Amino acid sequence: DGYSSAALASRLTDLIDTERTAYAQARPRSQALFASAEHLFGRVPMTWMTKWSGGFPLYLDRAEGARVTDIDGHSYADFALGDTGAMAGHSPAPVAEAIRARAIDKGGITAMLPTEDAEWVAGELSRRFGLPLWSFTLSATDANRWAIRLARLVTGRRKILVFSYSYHGSVDETFVILDEDGRAQSRPGNVGPAVDPTETTRVAQFNDLASVEAALAHGDVAVIVTEPALTNIGIVLPEPGFLDGVADLARRYGSLLLIDETHTFSAGPSGMTGTEGLQPDIFVIGKSIGGGIPCGAYGISNDIAERVSALAASGTADIDDVGGVGGTLAGNALSTAAMRATLGEVLTATNFDRMTALATTFTEGMREIFARHRLPWTIQQLGARAEFRYASPAPRTGNESAAVADAGLDEYFHLYLANRGVLITPFHNMSLMCPATRAEDVHGHLGVFEDAVTQLLA
Ligand code: PMP
Repeated sequence: DGYSSAALASRLTDLIDTERTAYAQARPRSQALFASAEHLFGRVPMTWMTKWSGGFPLYLDRAEGARVTDIDGHSYADFALGDTGAMAGHSPAPVAEAIRARAIDKGGITAMLPTEDAEWVAGELSRRFGLPLWSFTLSATDANRWAIRLARLVTGRRKILVFSYSYHGSVDETFVILDEDGRAQSRPGNVGPAVDPTETTRVAQFNDLASVEAALAHGDVAVIVTEPALTNIGIVLPEPGFLDGVADLARRYGSLLLIDETHTFSAGPSGMTGTEGLQPDIFVIGKSIGGGIPCGAYGISNDIAERVSALAASGTADIDDVGGVGGTLAGNALSTAAMRATLGEVLTATNFDRMTALATTFTEGMREIFARHRLPWTIQQLGARAEFRYASPAPRTGNESAAVADAGLDEYFHLYLANRGVLITPFHNMSLMCPATRAEDVHGHLGVFEDAVTQLLA
């Protein structure tokens, strides 16, 4: 209300300029390190780090709990938390202690030998997520990749099904979307696909059971790979009945169901598998469960395990050497020790209650800001995590959510917040709470966000 979109666009450009200048002026050391990085492709350790707003990333000096300090001495309330990699907080004491004990007191970080911790962690994952048998990886991407191979193996089917605008890591088969006419196509920007991914993958629309059934009806889908809520195109929550409907259709058409809770774990100590009572055939998780140490895991049903074992025994599937499932460092002593400490002592039910209460305060505060300023925006909460989107009502599908993305507004908010000591995740308008997040950080975040809105609409 009360402003034209052309006036708003020009105001936004000016505000971004002001924030970019302030960002650069206050961070000469980060800027200089970035400018002098001659041996890093894109000047960053991984090319996606150029996604931080402001033209160069902050360089990390220290981090503790929910706070990060950059090398220019600025301290931030960190709501990015490594895009869930640090959901447990930065270097939480039990994890740091377990790492020290493993690496220094005992010694032995990677030895190709199991430690006692692995069975403890697998038992805890079973208790939380229901699947009886587990294997470890070093990333959620690898967990998805290897699980998809097992699914193809046991079903004898070639394809997978994913939802349009989902993200499951750099898994070749998943880079597919539906275009405006509902046709599957390679996701724009897909880097060097070996084959057109529409050959390997069928695509359906989230919250649209008819599209799932149409895709499965071909009879060639080994496994449906999905998050229980989309979290990589804003948060798109499942409508009532949708997840049950997907599970029913999977059973009816002989496809397996893989639930990837790498992000939705924020919903609670047992993720949305717990809150929604899901019963997937395969379960994938990564990032957060190692408290920052690289790790991932996939759980499988007894039925899948028996079928894989039979195919291994007959020589059809090589699961213990170079058959395509496994990584040398997977399940190493250090990452298993970190997972045990994280799950046992940090990402506990009690801490999830605290984190979720803070995220609820944040979500309600944001809704009040949208209402006060009559902004047609929405925010969706998934337990300890909440993300806002420039649309109301909230998008129901990946395509609807993609259509309301606004890179300019994102850059403005990310920079405005960073310049005032608040970090949120690049690629997302996501704020995540960890056990060390304080109520005053949440109120501070809301205050700065409202100032940004006030400036924008002035
Ligand atoms: N699954 C989901 C749902 C994710 O959001 C991500 C990463 N954002 C991954 C898998 C891949 O995780 P990683 O990059 O750590 O392998």
